Amino acid sequence: MITPENEAAGGPERLEDGDEVGRVIVSEADLQARIVELGDRITADYAESPPLLVGVLKGAFMFMSDLSRAVALPVDVDFMAVSSYGSATRTSGVVRIVKDLDMDLADRHVLVVEDIVDSGLTLSYLQRYLLARSPASLEVCALLVKEGQQRTELDLRYVGFHIPAEFVVGYGLDVDERLRNLKAIHAYAGSLS
Ligand code: 5GP
Repeated sequence: MITPENEAAGGPERLEDGDEVGRVIVSEADLQARIVELGDRITADYAESPPLLVGVLKGAFMFMSDLSRAVALPVDVDFMAVSSYGSATRTSGVVRIVKDLDMDLADRHVLVVEDIVDSGLTLSYLQRYLLARSPASLEVCALLVKEGQQRTELDLRYVGFHIPAEFVVGYGLDVDERLRNLKAIHAYAGSLS
């Protein structure tokens, strides 16, 4: 918002310039270029049977928006919201479904669209949960995978980027619900509780 005070100082402070926003881990240009590649692969792989894209809220909302437009097929889109028990930065692997899917998965080709895989426990739980609904197939497209953190064997068909094991924000990913609307993925430079 432009107020008389910040206008005098040259306009509102940009989000990217805040103290908590650290170095760029994946730039906006790299994100967009990779999403085009992922979209092309998904378009080719699912040409005969357009998938149901299942986004995991809230972190995947921006990735889902861009990825769904990069897929040149008549996809369906649904969302679920999960919250994992644990500290702010570490999941325990115990997941609560906060919002379930609206659509029936039976005989659908389901592609889970996930923001980030850290320990992998959340995704592993979700895969088991969704498989119980008898989809025709179930695959995962994860934008980010943290190097060397996975505590469970995961089969990730599509991965955007492997990143260092540090806490990141932006492009949908938050810290205490903030910084989701950064255009790039940044290291978080504030203090984590
Ligand atoms: P996992 O179960 O794989 O350890 O954790 C997955 C979930 O934890 C993600 O869907 C995301 O919500 C959260 N998460 C893991 N690492 C990060 C991170 O670096 N930044 C943010 N903002 N969330 C993360």
